[in-house]
Amino acid sequence: MAIRLGNTCLNCDNLSSDNMCSVHSVKVGHLYTCDSFEMKARLADERNCTTCLRYERQDCANPTKAAPGMMCAVWAPKGLMSA
Ligand code: SF4
Ligand code: SF4
Repeated sequence: MAIRLGNTCLNCDNLSSDNMCSVHSVKVGHLYTCDSFEMKARLADERNCTTCLRYERQDCANPTKAAPGMMCAVWAPKGLMSA
């Protein structure tokens, strides 16, 4: 089973610094999400083999193709990325 980043308000581009949603004008948190979710561009860019938990490990799904800038469907976050 693939482990992925969740689409929550915490990594949504519509979350402002005071935890207000700029779409709905309400306070939100990491437990919430909605259909207007938009992944922060920086986090989306960071999803590649070098930030994958499986990079250069035996459980990599595509060991012959894994490389910086590449990614596959079972990418899993290597560590907590700051939002
Ligand atoms: S648009 Fe949706 S997912 Fe994004 S911050 Fe607002 S409520 Fe959360
Ligand atoms: S190929 Fe897939 S499993 Fe392997 S390191 Fe890249 S994203 Fe992770």
